[in-house]
Amino acid sequence: MPEPKENLLMEKIVSLCKRRGFIFQSSEIYGGINGFWDYGPLGAELKRNVKESWWLTMTRQREDVAGLEATIIMSPEIWKASGHVATFADLMVECPITNKRFRADQVDEQSGFAHRFIGAFNRTLLSAAMAELASSTTSPIHGFDKAQTNEQVLKLIGFINRSNPTHITLNTVLAGEPREDFVRALYAYCEEVLKRRPAMDIKGPVAIFEEVNVLQPYSSGLETKNLYKTAKAFYEKRGIVDPILLLAGRKEVDKTTAYNPENGAELTKPRPFNLMFKTFVGPVESDDNVAYLRPETAQAIFAQFKNVLETSRQKVPFGIAQIGKAFRNEVTPRNYTFRSREFEQMELEFFIKPDEAIEAISSSVATPATKGHPGEPQANWGWQLWHQYWVEERIKFYEDIGLPRNSLVEYWQKPEELAHYARATVDILYKFPFSKRDEKGELMGEELEGIAARSDFDLSQHARFSGKPMGVFDDELKVAWEKLPKEKQDDLWRRYYENRKKYLVKTGLASEQASKNATNDANGLAKGQYLPHVIEPSAGVDRLILALICNAYNEDQAPDEKGKMETRVVLKFHPRIAPIKVAIFPLLKNKPELVAKAKAVRDLLRPHMNAFYDEAGAIGRRYRRQDEIGTPFGVTIDFDTLGEKGDELKDTVTLRHRDTMKQERLKISELLPFIMSKIH
Ligand code: ATP
Repeated sequence: MPEPKENLLMEKIVSLCKRRGFIFQSSEIYGGINGFWDYGPLGAELKRNVKESWWLTMTRQREDVAGLEATIIMSPEIWKASGHVATFADLMVECPITNKRFRADQVDEQSGFAHRFIGAFNRTLLSAAMAELASSTTSPIHGFDKAQTNEQVLKLIGFINRSNPTHITLNTVLAGEPREDFVRALYAYCEEVLKRRPAMDIKGPVAIFEEVNVLQPYSSGLETKNLYKTAKAFYEKRGIVDPILLLAGRKEVDKTTAYNPENGAELTKPRPFNLMFKTFVGPVESDDNVAYLRPETAQAIFAQFKNVLETSRQKVPFGIAQIGKAFRNEVTPRNYTFRSREFEQMELEFFIKPDEAIEAISSSVATPATKGHPGEPQANWGWQLWHQYWVEERIKFYEDIGLPRNSLVEYWQKPEELAHYARATVDILYKFPFSKRDEKGELMGEELEGIAARSDFDLSQHARFSGKPMGVFDDELKVAWEKLPKEKQDDLWRRYYENRKKYLVKTGLASEQASKNATNDANGLAKGQYLPHVIEPSAGVDRLILALICNAYNEDQAPDEKGKMETRVVLKFHPRIAPIKVAIFPLLKNKPELVAKAKAVRDLLRPHMNAFYDEAGAIGRRYRRQDEIGTPFGVTIDFDTLGEKGDELKDTVTLRHRDTMKQERLKISELLPFIMSKIH
């Protein structure tokens, strides 16, 4: 079967990454460890450049963001407050199609007919196999005599041709026979057909025999469309293109919680789904000493919110940024480094005033007028504009380090996908070669970063669990509030009260107590006090590295030393993030004057950038080695540099551009400013 193009591309990328020292399997000499990856010399440089770019953009070049570097192991109370201990330790069930996880005790009861599908065939191949079997010269399916086969086959052919069916019902279409045996024999036969006819462009497997039960609930009016849609999605997810389903029967079920209420698919058996890695602090391995490796960097930012606020002289709105390792015991690490168990995150928590405070200060909250970047932040921005601002800022960041806009997808989570505390979340997806395709054949993309408007949930939780106040005092609000007409004060008070009460009730507080606490909170607002809301752009370093490598990978044609055209592999990294910025070559390695001059040029550039010296092999080969690792500039020192053709060319060098392969002559004194202008 021909390998899909995307898989071949990924294979080439993975092999290049290993061969040239970008990414290695962790613990490779011991057979590796699933979900863990090491960055080799070039990968380490690339990663460092990417993190540096993020840090510069998000903190140093802004007035309103401060940095933090917290520990990986923190008080386990933090993970109770954040909800990680409770939600990750619950019994979870998972939909085998959407991978949506449900708490086992929260699935709605349903009644109806459960249909048992035992597998599915690729439609094109099954039709082709049956056309062959129908011809009288064909030998029968192995293990079945010809008469028996023909009878079965004719029935099937008639059925398939007549109705272009979604499914074959085994006990009606193939009544009275050892049906499952027959189906398996037919599968083997299909494989033979495919071998005989390699030109048939069949994607994915011939057939899959994996059982799935799908519920047709009474509440659907026993409508069948969704039933088959769900079963098809199950087999499509496992690689069957245009599946014909094998339906083996149905049974009535009553008040069951075993099926996904959204699509009818049977959920996995309940199992504890704790993604956090556990460890023990101190010598005693007891429950009291349990700690967790952080599954995200964000919580440390909330926990240190007050300290940063008090020491950085920032005022809301402002942000706290952190880059660091995170650990998740992913059930299925996959797609190379995309889903790892140890990875790095770059997270910003940007704290803003609640909309009620903005309205009190600025008389109204600005609403997003158009799509796109809303421009410089304004005092009357509420959470919606701040959210839009950060989405656009983050996309701009990706463009600035070389990911084109059309390689990214801005995905707005649907209301039913949002976490209960989130008001809006946008995922920025990159169209990886392994991403799924939509019905038009376009790559749909996989998440690089999520930008969530998280309300005041996080600080509220930490205030509740730690017993420490997390609110801020805002003098501007206090002054503005006092000047507001009474009706406006009442209106804002009520809205703030309602929001706080909603949160407090969700935490399990009895209604009366929640009202009391919410009243205190709203009274606080009237005196200039509130819990800041937060916008959280949260990105993964490793996924970004993979996206940058995939995006940079190019093959073109270039002449070899003898002028013959050959395929050139080139990583077209943006110079800003390229692991090596410039390679310096003496034309010949056995001419001490050339070598000395080349080393002098290297020493001139090295304090400012990662410069690489290479004297081994023909110059064309040396260029090619650098193209393959994405070095944007090559500098060659030749006899002209030494002044052998006169003073005019003395102290000039050849500068070669990686992408165009064009060469130009530059003075050595011009090199540093030129390259610096490209890498910053
Ligand atoms: P996914 O749905 O893909 O599991 P998520 O929505 O759980 O991701 P977040 O909790 O929002 O991810 O984490 C923020 C970012 O951290 C993600 O956008 C991603 O870039 C990165 N990230 C999360 N999990 C992993 C992982 N297992 N491996 C690599 N990066 C990850």
